[in-house]
Amino acid sequence: MLFHSTRGKDPDKDFASILMQGLAEDGGLFMPDYWPQVDLDEIKSKTSFVEIAKCVVPLFTSSSFSYDETISIVESTWHDFEHQDLIGIREFNSVSILELFHGPTAAFKDFGLQLAAAFFNKVLESENKTAIVLGATSGDTGSAAIDACKSYERIKSFIMLPNGNMSEVQRRQMSTIKSSNVFALRINGTFDDCQDLVKLAFKQRDFLKTDQYLLAVNSINWTRIIGQICYYFYAYNQLHQKGNLSFSIPTGNFGNVFACYSAHKMGLPINKISVAVNDNDILHRFFSSNDYSKKLVHETISPSMDISVASNFERLVYDFFLNRDSSKCAKMFDNFPIKPIELDVETWQRKDSLFSSSKVDDLETTKTIQETYKVNGYILDPHTAVAAVEAIKKSDSSNHFVVLSTAHPAKFPKVYEELNIEINSLPAALSGLFKKEEHLHSFDADYNQVTDFIKLNN
Ligand SMILES: *Cc1c(COP(=O)(O)O)cnc(C)c1O
Repeated sequence: MLFHSTRGKDPDKDFASILMQGLAEDGGLFMPDYWPQVDLDEIKSKTSFVEIAKCVVPLFTSSSFSYDETISIVESTWHDFEHQDLIGIREFNSVSILELFHGPTAAFKDFGLQLAAAFFNKVLESENKTAIVLGATSGDTGSAAIDACKSYERIKSFIMLPNGNMSEVQRRQMSTIKSSNVFALRINGTFDDCQDLVKLAFKQRDFLKTDQYLLAVNSINWTRIIGQICYYFYAYNQLHQKGNLSFSIPTGNFGNVFACYSAHKMGLPINKISVAVNDNDILHRFFSSNDYSKKLVHETISPSMDISVASNFERLVYDFFLNRDSSKCAKMFDNFPIKPIELDVETWQRKDSLFSSSKVDDLETTKTIQETYKVNGYILDPHTAVAAVEAIKKSDSSNHFVVLSTAHPAKFPKVYEELNIEINSLPAALSGLFKKEEHLHSFDADYNQVTDFIKLNN
């Protein structure tokens, strides 16, 4: 299995190369050359999440690692989860909640980033090299990346956070880690300023040592998607007796939805994928009216979904084109966002068989949290609540919905203070966070200031 860019100019890459490279050389995203198929009877027979992951991960890694090497990585990858099988499932009538927040940073991103970090380390060990992880975060990516990489001595992590809408818990998860290879950089600017700095750094690379890798941990890294594909098959393993499942997914950069779509392409029977967004509705505009155009970011109470463009969306468009036409894809995305994207009607309608979308504002989100608490005694996090709306509306005895619960509510305490809902069980990941000292290094949104600091600590 090899990989290639959605824009056609970076083909025939093995797994280790796309892992370490992140974005393709032509600005596109890496895709597997074909969709490998999973044996559903085998999935049904498995008795744990890790056993299921062992059926999925090797399908993508064989160009760089032997089957046995991959299996031994998969067996030791996911760590510090508070649930014995990593994932919890709660059932309420025709809706199940897939709890993906039992990891060390209390959000689903631990699944993808722990897998990526384990493979990063494997490559670095075999080549005897070191790496810098550089990322920008407006929410949960930064803490999951830091946590996933902190135990690997060959990796130093520098994560930039903007002055912005992340919750204090989210910030403290990054700023209170005391580890000599982790640095939280507070940038006096917006998330876009941080991302611009990351982009420039990947171009210049002038702060690296010779032979040192610069690694991207944003959601376009294919290995993160692999880690997420596994839990869709886990949902099937646990819930297949309910008939074909529908999934409702709280969506920002479209990584989670694309993992669901990938699982479907690999043989997972799915009724519908519901793409649930907050006021940042670029994807809802695409699915409902073929309008994918960039607008300003709105701040909401589900901050990890506050995006202006959805970086993984390019992969879906590419896979929708007949014969996966990379030249069409390149033209479209090279000109975006200056030129908004509108597909020809026939291509656009390919979404109809699988996708629907919904847009849920803060008011409806809080109402759903309150109502679910009142009726079921269950506390949804604000992101999960956005996705729950559609599932509650559309599910019935012949259409079972799985809502992906992407974060633990305790990450967003302000929301619940205002609703007078008390969160009784704090995950270990978050306890004591407000007593710890913060280590934040502050900078202007200035390339030299930031990279001088990296050089000094590299
Ligand atoms: C990252 C994140 C999302 C959005 O996921 P994407 O894969 O970017 O669409 C949703 N909820 C939470 C809590 C997140 O951290």
